[in-house]
Amino acid sequence: MKNGYGQCNICRGRYTLQHVEVEKGSVIYVCSECIEKAQDNFIWICMTCGKTYIRPKQLVINRTKDRELKKAYMLCQDLLIIQGIDVCIACSPERILDYAEMHETVMEC
Ligand SMILES: [Zn+2]
Ligand SMILES: [Zn+2]
Repeated sequence: MKNGYGQCNICRGRYTLQHVEVEKGSVIYVCSECIEKAQDNFIWICMTCGKTYIRPKQLVINRTKDRELKKAYMLCQDLLIIQGIDVCIACSPERILDYAEMHETVMEC
């Protein structure tokens, strides 16, 4: 667990006391503004390179063709989703060929 102030891992700007657990054992700092952003956006953070992906919830839901996945997203719509992923397109393009595929392994709530 983290103590004290840390730089927000999402925007890498503000310092904050708030942190969230993005996956088991991994805690990141998130400032109030980014928490607010998470109301309307799904936020994923790559635990390998630290890159963040912020996507409007509505857009993600509209673009999802998989019906099961779509249902899962819609259930998540009112929740705060800030999730850690092991690798992302930027640091491991060969492991993730399709962004949609990545979503499938990422979403669970
Ligand atoms: Zn922030
Ligand atoms: Zn990455």
